Amino acid sequence: MSFTLSKSRYCNAVQCPKILWMHKYMPQEFDSSVLNEAVFNTGNEVGDLAMGIFGDYTEVPYGDPGEMIQLTQELIQAETPVICEASFSFKGLFCSVDILKNFGHNIVELYEVKSSTSVSPIYVDDISYQVYVLRKLGYDVRRACLIHLNKNYVRFGELNLRELFTMVDLTSQVNDNAASVESTIEFLRGYMRKRREPQETIGTHCFSPYHCGFFPHCANDLPHPNVFDLKRTQLNTRMKLYESGFVSFEDLYHSGKLSDQAATQVRYELEELPDHINIPKLKEFLTTISYPLYYLDFETFQPAIPRYDASSPYDQIPFQYSLHYQKEKHGKLYHKEYLAYPYEDPRRNLAEQLCKDIPENVTVLAYNMAFEKGRIRELAALYPEYAEHLLNIHDNMKDLMIPFQQRHYYTRAMHGSYSIKYVLPALYPDDPELDYHSLEGVHNGAEASSTFLQMLSMDHDTLEEYRGYLLSYCKLDTFAMVKVLDRLYEVTEQ
Ligand code: SF4
Repeated sequence: MSFTLSKSRYCNAVQCPKILWMHKYMPQEFDSSVLNEAVFNTGNEVGDLAMGIFGDYTEVPYGDPGEMIQLTQELIQAETPVICEASFSFKGLFCSVDILKNFGHNIVELYEVKSSTSVSPIYVDDISYQVYVLRKLGYDVRRACLIHLNKNYVRFGELNLRELFTMVDLTSQVNDNAASVESTIEFLRGYMRKRREPQETIGTHCFSPYHCGFFPHCANDLPHPNVFDLKRTQLNTRMKLYESGFVSFEDLYHSGKLSDQAATQVRYELEELPDHINIPKLKEFLTTISYPLYYLDFETFQPAIPRYDASSPYDQIPFQYSLHYQKEKHGKLYHKEYLAYPYEDPRRNLAEQLCKDIPENVTVLAYNMAFEKGRIRELAALYPEYAEHLLNIHDNMKDLMIPFQQRHYYTRAMHGSYSIKYVLPALYPDDPELDYHSLEGVHNGAEASSTFLQMLSMDHDTLEEYRGYLLSYCKLDTFAMVKVLDRLYEVTEQ
């Protein structure tokens, strides 16, 4: 079989050559859950926008590679100054250049667009591969640059592409990398001739720069659970444990190298231990709760390209909240909510409604309150007219995550996590009312964000249907908090 490569597959192979081999010979083993459609869509959106950074351009439409290469040649011959998706191939090495500046006489500049806000070493490999292909074809690549989003850009009015994007000249790094590209490609030609599955050691390269979709396959021989199932433990720490031979939970149990939290997870997985409930500590936490009590949860989305004035790439934009409240302990449960329509900046209306829905000087409960507090501070900075009230809400927040984060309440079913998505089913197993899986359309925060992003292109009926899904999802988030607090009362009052 002939050897072929694209720039994304080359980057895969730089991460680990076995990824390339697996994609060709055992693609069915790929775990597609590592792919993130939202990230993919963001990349396309940013790429499309960046095409206009040098003014007028001609795009080679995506399609048959042969036709893309042919059209590129025609455009170059016609002295087209800016060509997007310009496509080339040299001995099976294919690449499409995001933006190619064509100066005639085979003199070009190459621009790779990424939706990130910084330079990653893998981008240098990506560009180096493209430059290698073009130089092999005889082009004089004068400059090779990365274009990425500028996190410090703040939108006011029309987007300013020159300010939204940052251009980094990587020509000298790419030139330094040239010999390495050549030797990597030669190595891969031999590697891809292997008929038997290559054996590569598991390492940090399985997770960086990208989480490898073949990890379940390569880790198939490891015992379960294993060191990679440890929650709240840095990857570097897990790798060090793995490389030191502490792989199974039994190994880890005797390693003496675990943090208290990780050791608790391991101990509970291995032994039939009763639930750990520290009543005095839980009571201490509950003394910080007063009534009326408001349970608050925000949903946000992070547009790569700022949609609204006074926002920057990847700002967290709150577009929805759910609010349950009780006037007294064990009292009747009330509910309020806010969900913006996607056509306008949701922040001012949300801030105003939040101030109407939550009076000053009441306790506001959130789960992982750092997130809600961060959004409230941002809203207060944006809208001074609501700042005093918002900051009052901010200052009166309490975090329901604390008892679980500090392991005052721990059960085996939490599997080392204190996320509410683990805590809730651990406290209420098999309760259909609290089962996120039984929701329609939106089941987690990531789906909520992408749903809101997609709403702009929905027709009226579909949009209303998805609004219903969003409202149900966010409502369950705060109802879950009500139930979690109920359980804390229950165990401390027994
Ligand atoms: S899981 Fe690791 S070793 Fe296996 S193919 Fe991926 S990066 Fe390579």
